Amino acid sequence: IIKVYAKTIYHGDDTLRTILVHRDITKEYEVDQMKSEFVSTVSHELRTPLASVLGFTELLLNKELKPERKMKYLQTIYNEANRLTLLINDFLDVQRMESGKQTYEKKYVDLYPIIETAIEHQKVNTTLHHFALQSDVHQSIIFGDKSKLEQVFTNLLSNSIKYSPNGGNVTVRINENPEFVFIEFEDEGLGIPNDAIPHLFQKFYRVDNSDHRRIGGTGLGLAIVEEIVKASGGKITVESEYGKGSVFKLEFPRVITRELTKQSEGISS
Ligand code: ADP
Repeated sequence: IIKVYAKTIYHGDDTLRTILVHRDITKEYEVDQMKSEFVSTVSHELRTPLASVLGFTELLLNKELKPERKMKYLQTIYNEANRLTLLINDFLDVQRMESGKQTYEKKYVDLYPIIETAIEHQKVNTTLHHFALQSDVHQSIIFGDKSKLEQVFTNLLSNSIKYSPNGGNVTVRINENPEFVFIEFEDEGLGIPNDAIPHLFQKFYRVDNSDHRRIGGTGLGLAIVEEIVKASGGKITVESEYGKGSVFKLEFPRVITRELTKQSEGISS
């Protein structure tokens, strides 16, 4: 986008001249677009859980309720408040990443138990999905930030559930060769149209069709995932067939066991 404007300049000989200045404002325009997108996404996404918190609090305050019903409402308020916290954390994470202020711990991390735990946590959120963990290895050690890697697996697993609204199998595979640990998250959900795949890891990007739009989200989860994977020296790719399901594939440089024998303590799992 080129902005053209007239500028009048004085010359030493007291004459005036008007010149036309061309300036490329594509970057500014993109930043503006991004800001307004951010504001509308934030307001929309925060409003929904907040409305639930307010609504259920009002019910609790105004009505004589049976203890079981009270507990149910309180549980909903707790879940929605948790959702708000996670959303705000995502916004803060993205902001820290943008400004280069995100910090990453570098420690030996065993991925297998982290994935196992992340799957167990997800099981609580669904009765429609069936999870399988397939692996030949029981120790897949890389060098990275444990809590950030937990966030990667949680985001990918929760997307597999969220974008498989009719349920289905979620299969996680962990394998390795001498150099890399490979992890796949496969679902049998909505799938992703081919033309959307190159944009998937961009901030705020959401697949623009009614099936996907019906499901709430900010379009930040995968941007955060990619950033953490890259910061751990890894790579993420996706393969998908629209209407059939998706596979998110991760690869991380493996820490060779020989290196570990020199420093056998300090593996977080
Ligand atoms: P959010 O889920 O908050 O919209 P993400 O960054 O996690 O944001 O995902 C970006 C978009 O990618 C989603 O809006 C969705 O359209 C698509 N997507 C992500 N994971 C899956 C998946 N497992 N199956 C189908 N579509 C997915």
